[in-house]
Amino acid sequence: MVKFLNLQKQYEDIKQEIDTKIFEVIQNSAFVGGEYLEEFEQNFAKYIGTKYCLGVGNGTDALEIALWSLKLPKNAEVIVPANSFIATSEAVTQNGLKVKFADCDHNYQLCSKSLKKLITPQTKAVIVVHLYGHPADMNEIMPLVKKYDLKLIEDCAQAHGATYKGKNVGTFGDLATFSFYPGKNLGAYGDGGAILSSDEKLINLCRSFANHGRSTKFAHEIEGRNSRLDGLQAAVLNVKLNYLDLWIQKRNEVAKYYFDNIKNPKISLPQQSKDIVNVFHLFVIQTQDRKGLQRFLQTQQIQTGIHYPIALPKLRPYQNLQQDCSEFKACSEDERLLSLPMGEHLTVQELKIITTAINEWK
Ligand SMILES: *Cc1c(COP(=O)(O)O)cnc(C)c1O
Repeated sequence: MVKFLNLQKQYEDIKQEIDTKIFEVIQNSAFVGGEYLEEFEQNFAKYIGTKYCLGVGNGTDALEIALWSLKLPKNAEVIVPANSFIATSEAVTQNGLKVKFADCDHNYQLCSKSLKKLITPQTKAVIVVHLYGHPADMNEIMPLVKKYDLKLIEDCAQAHGATYKGKNVGTFGDLATFSFYPGKNLGAYGDGGAILSSDEKLINLCRSFANHGRSTKFAHEIEGRNSRLDGLQAAVLNVKLNYLDLWIQKRNEVAKYYFDNIKNPKISLPQQSKDIVNVFHLFVIQTQDRKGLQRFLQTQQIQTGIHYPIALPKLRPYQNLQQDCSEFKACSEDERLLSLPMGEHLTVQELKIITTAINEWK
């Protein structure tokens, strides 16, 4: 079986370090807050290149809380890409704001031309998603954000360590959010997330909201909620952060193997911008007969995935929106997307099996 993802194998590679740390956290009872969390927050902010990092419960909370901290007026419109995980648009609605979808470009990223067309006086923010680990087109997006005085949140759930013209994603916006869901490029052993920013005021608002609006133990300045990254997860992430660059390099080697070896006229490979580091959270190909290819690969014991099978505007919760997205590229290509196995776990032998099977498929 060629696995899409192999978390057991990753654990085996770093077992000693992980086990030691986990026992250390338990012995110190550093379960909520504490030194392991602080250490990770500092390390991760430094790695990405922001002043601050706040660990939270998961990537969805990170988005919701980050958007909340911007204190946008009621009924403000927030633009999000049509192809993403639902958490991106949920964050908007859950804050009582209005979602507007933008189409995606040839790299599957928020399309700046579509974005420009959608901006109205009610538009107050954009959530850009660096989808599949490929940075969005920031050279085109940033001038629009500045010109129309919009707030910008970067959803970096799939893009830990990706760079755009030498600058890490997560450093362009007012705030950036990350997920440490186990299957992400930097994954915890359970749920986890983070909000990053260099704006002290915004990060303090988020920190307070994520901890019941506390200033001291029983002084609550505002109502908030409980969304914290726990000590065990922070300790695991601290160990794994040291391997992230190596794993990114391995993912790029896997991608290169795919680019060099997949030769089947029925399949189109992803495109890449210049001057970026793509961290290949996913390697997404397209084919007219997705069902056929997925089934064929399954018979060859090769696991695949689909990200995402239904574009956000076509999902039921968005059927009442007053926006017609039927002409969006993202709303038709969702039928053709297929994600191949990706990760540092893949061996050359497995890559050979995958690419041979794909090339034999008719
Ligand atoms: C995974 C993911 C999220 C949500 O993160 P969770 O930690 O699962 O809540 C948000 N946005 C994108 C693009 C994601 O891939």
